[in-house]
Amino acid sequence: MFRSNTCGELRLSNAGQTVTLAGWVQTIRKFGSITFIDLRDRYGITQLLFSESLNEQLEATPLGREFVLQVTGTVSERTNKNNQIPTGDIEILVNSFKILNKSATPPFTIQDDTDGGDDLRMKYRYLDLRRNPLRKNLELRYAVGRSARNYLHEQQFMDIETPFLIKSTPEGARDFVVPSRMNAGQFYALPQSPQTFKQLLMVSGYDRYYQVVKCFRDEDLRADRQPEFTQIDCEMAFVEQEDILQMFEGLIKRIFKDVKQIDYTETVARMSWEDAMWLYGNDKPDIRFDMKLCNLKKPGTVFLQKEDHSALVNGVDFKVFDEAETVLAVVAPGCSEYSRKQTDELTEWVKRPQIGMKGLVWIKYNTDGTLKSSVDKFYNEDRLRAIADASQAKPGDLILILAGQEERTRKAISELRLHLADSLGMRKPDEFKLLWVLDFPLFEYAEEELEGKGTIGRWVARHHPFTAPKPDHISIMIENDPVIRDRDNYLAHPYSGIKANAYDLVLNGNEIGGGSIRIYQRELQEKMFAALGMDAHEQQEKFGFLLGAFEYGAPPHGGIAFGFDRLCAILGGSESIRDFIAFPKNNSGRDVMLDAPGEIDEKQLKELFIQSTADRP
Ligand code: ASP
Repeated sequence: MFRSNTCGELRLSNAGQTVTLAGWVQTIRKFGSITFIDLRDRYGITQLLFSESLNEQLEATPLGREFVLQVTGTVSERTNKNNQIPTGDIEILVNSFKILNKSATPPFTIQDDTDGGDDLRMKYRYLDLRRNPLRKNLELRYAVGRSARNYLHEQQFMDIETPFLIKSTPEGARDFVVPSRMNAGQFYALPQSPQTFKQLLMVSGYDRYYQVVKCFRDEDLRADRQPEFTQIDCEMAFVEQEDILQMFEGLIKRIFKDVKQIDYTETVARMSWEDAMWLYGNDKPDIRFDMKLCNLKKPGTVFLQKEDHSALVNGVDFKVFDEAETVLAVVAPGCSEYSRKQTDELTEWVKRPQIGMKGLVWIKYNTDGTLKSSVDKFYNEDRLRAIADASQAKPGDLILILAGQEERTRKAISELRLHLADSLGMRKPDEFKLLWVLDFPLFEYAEEELEGKGTIGRWVARHHPFTAPKPDHISIMIENDPVIRDRDNYLAHPYSGIKANAYDLVLNGNEIGGGSIRIYQRELQEKMFAALGMDAHEQQEKFGFLLGAFEYGAPPHGGIAFGFDRLCAILGGSESIRDFIAFPKNNSGRDVMLDAPGEIDEKQLKELFIQSTADRP
């Protein structure tokens, strides 16, 4: 028997028992003739006391940090108790010990606040994983996964595996490809998600499917993305949007309960994509706090039904606003007394390259009702008050205004909103707010350079090509020709107004899941592929299997996938998904521990019919 107990298990009630423990040496402290050692394993730390009688043996076989040690001894009450750890009332009076393995001096301390930098810890990930913070993260990940599986199992979902060596599944990223030795010159693609397989499973009659599954996307790595990541991937047949929303709010609420002991009893908020963009500047608003935006100048895009305040800002010869495509305001509550230094800092903040604005206009709505702004030269107090009122500011508030090209300004103000809320302590880590964002546009307009033909405007699927339009928008899709003839006026094309039967679940400003009701009729799917620029031949070549399946009794279906790593990170109160993955890649997509990707030898290349790097120009 290697051990009778773990290092986290023994209490005062065990006093007098003879036990055997095994673990890693965390610290060694010598006091005269006695030695204290903290022995660590996954379950905790137990103090060991080596009395004088063991000194000779300790000298002959000295111990070091991270040595693997087995000890046998008696549990006894400590005189000097440590109430910081659960085993702090006891220690083990060691009778005998054995070094099971030595350790080189670790390159960083295996402690909660280690001295190791990021790169070093990634290189020695197996040591980093010994530390409590990472162990807790992996435990949380396991708990989230288990909770999800339990819920889905109880709801009659079946976990069905789907292949990794497949053909492309378009989710908007590049594919990772794998050369096939047995099929000269041909390649598999790794799935960007199991999307088409889960739909085929619906055709096969497995009406509730799930899988906790790896997905692979060869994207330029933005901060905190991983080229391989895990989804909780789900699909259901015979459902409408409402069924899906209910089922999967249930899933997240269950995870909250099991993992965080939070009873999320309130109704999950819902918002249209258009409102999210209009009121918060992005499609995944953090609604733990209010601070809605005011669109002072309505841009010429999709916000057809919305109010226009441009008369308030235009017409006083303030070029910045006159020439801007959009002017957006956000109100910082209670900040009218910000100093010059503070407003300057905010201006610098929006000018950072990541935010990319040229400047910031502020209006202070003083508590005495007067108004002062950085553009007093142009706007008299009445105008300022009208702007303040439109922004729903109150005396005591500070109004911040950005102007410029629509997309950039919208992005910038939504970042500014979060930045302000952060500095005002309004984004509480222990508060969780869910939000469904609905009614996304089905298509996005994109421009593409075609060799010899110049630039053409075309439609791309905002979610993916299998997403169905809202039921009452299907006819718009069927009846209209997708070709964009008037590029400058693409918004007038009927396809611009088609809404998708899609939904994203947002938690505290992060998209944690997204999905849609799917197309299940061949004709509509062909129309969709055609709208995306695929001719019949390409459709057949790429998706013949799916179009074929739709001819054999495909049921109405829909689904969703949750970003498992991200969900864990949010529940764990962290910004970084890497901390919740046992063996992640770094920001350049490298595994620095394995030193992968790496080169392969000539023989392997030949077998795969790939020209060797040496022969390449
Ligand atoms: N396959 C989609 C994705 O990975 C999710 C879904 O539509 O179910 O985003």
